Amino acid sequence: MGGTFDPIHFGHLVTAEEALVQFNLNRVVFMPSGNPARKTHREVTSGEHRYLMAVIATASNPDFEVSRMEIDRAGPTYTVDTLRTLRSIHGSRADLYFITGADAVWEIVTWKDADEFVDLCTFIAATRPGYDLDAARSEHAEQLARLKIEFIEVPALAISSTDIRLRVKEKRPVRYLTSESVAAYIEKQKLYREAY
Ligand code: NAP
Repeated sequence: MGGTFDPIHFGHLVTAEEALVQFNLNRVVFMPSGNPARKTHREVTSGEHRYLMAVIATASNPDFEVSRMEIDRAGPTYTVDTLRTLRSIHGSRADLYFITGADAVWEIVTWKDADEFVDLCTFIAATRPGYDLDAARSEHAEQLARLKIEFIEVPALAISSTDIRLRVKEKRPVRYLTSESVAAYIEKQKLYREAY
């Protein structure tokens, strides 16, 4: 499950659980991006903070893991590099799924070495409430033809990392949007107080 996770929240956790059950997965590996290639409009919180928040948010779930693979890899983060590595670790017979937000999914054909994805994984795209999947499908027919994509609807994705960062900055509550432990970590490390 790829994402910036800045910070991880209940929407991500519900998405992971939903994907685990719907696609009968063995486990979900949360993969915080290292240096998101296209995040130039704002400063992303350090990979170490985002990784640690993911670890504490998922610690109690035996089916969830967090990987340092992308935050430890030098240079810009490209999903194709991650999937190639996972494929070489798990072999050609493993079914690999890459879970991410539906908003990101239509950009995939523009990602590095996009033509390899069809052989590397099936994408699971999580949609927020109100997302018009039929309209998106007809608008993005080309992408659908070039990739394997499944969609899941996740009502909890009304929660967003952007909203949480803004709430912290404005001293509004984030309780019940992310775990108590993540909220405490944000407070302790003084994250999101200035820019969001
Ligand atoms: P983003 O633009 O920050 O997020 C796009 C939307 O998707 C946001 O609404 C976000 O909500 C949501 N989202 C992101 N990850 C999600 C997840 N795991 N589950 C549910 N919703 C999610 O996207 P991003 O985080 O930078 O990128 C998503 C993934 O695509 C990452 O793994 C990234 O490395 C990969 N990517 C790869 C390339 C490339 O290889 N060239 C380029 C771009 C992205 P929240 O803000 O609430 O999470």
